Amino acid sequence: MLATPATALTRLAAATGRLFGWKTRRHGKPQPNAEQIDAILPQTQCGRCGYSACRPYAEAVACGEADINQCPPGGELTVRALAELLGCKSKPLNPKYGTPPQQPTVAWIDETACIGCTRCIQACPVDAILGAAKQMHTVIRTECTGCALCIEPCPVDCIHLQPLTQSIGTQTRLDQNPAVENASFSKSQLQSWEQIRGKADLARERYEYRLARLARERDERQQRQQRKKAIPGRDLDSTDKKAVIQAAVARARRRQAALAATRGTFLSSRLK
Ligand code: SF4
Ligand code: SF4
Ligand code: SF4
Repeated sequence: MLATPATALTRLAAATGRLFGWKTRRHGKPQPNAEQIDAILPQTQCGRCGYSACRPYAEAVACGEADINQCPPGGELTVRALAELLGCKSKPLNPKYGTPPQQPTVAWIDETACIGCTRCIQACPVDAILGAAKQMHTVIRTECTGCALCIEPCPVDCIHLQPLTQSIGTQTRLDQNPAVENASFSKSQLQSWEQIRGKADLARERYEYRLARLARERDERQQRQQRKKAIPGRDLDSTDKKAVIQAAVARARRRQAALAATRGTFLSSRLK
């Protein structure tokens, strides 16, 4: 059956919307922004979607640059929730980006093997590792998202992922989520999604806090470098530097000699 012009236009609008960032929404709803999309994402901050973290992926989805099925930790449930929000059709998770984890995990460090190199701290997107140079490191289980980004940089392979055996954080009521209503997901899929969602708000907060910390440290480093540059004589070449040092030593010697002479005059006046 031939489509009516109105139906054809609706289809074209929907297709164009899908191609160019879902600018056209069904029922004329406003276009969801990156914040709304980010609110659905699991906040594992693992980068498996091809973006550095959840928020950049959310921004890419909002502007139509990325598809809704690129987040393995979120799995099919997240794809469905995104489709619901964006008013587009759900689709299977794209295997190019990996498969969903069997169950949520957290990292564990074998402290007897840790050499305190701090590489894991630098890799952790949510500052969930405690430690200092040449000291034993440990993972804060409640804050670890199981992203696995700390595993590869460890030179002694002492970081292992373990199943998250109990839920941490606020539980999400699945029965109140329209995206999963009437969906045929297995109990373990639903439990896994609940566990990940339960930690999402804390993980987002930790991730944003880390970005702010890194920016602050960068500023402080730049300020230190500028202060160093401003030290008089810093730009002199080695010959000039030598002359400055010799002049300073000569001044110090003159001061010492003058002090010794004053002391000698004082002592001889007392002995008279
Ligand atoms: S959790 Fe999903 S959206 Fe977030 S960084 Fe990982 S793959 Fe990307
Ligand atoms: S401790 Fe490791 S697995 Fe856990 S959040 Fe940090 S980098 Fe990811
Ligand atoms: S990367 Fe491995 S060895 Fe280095 S501090 Fe972390 S846990 Fe210890």
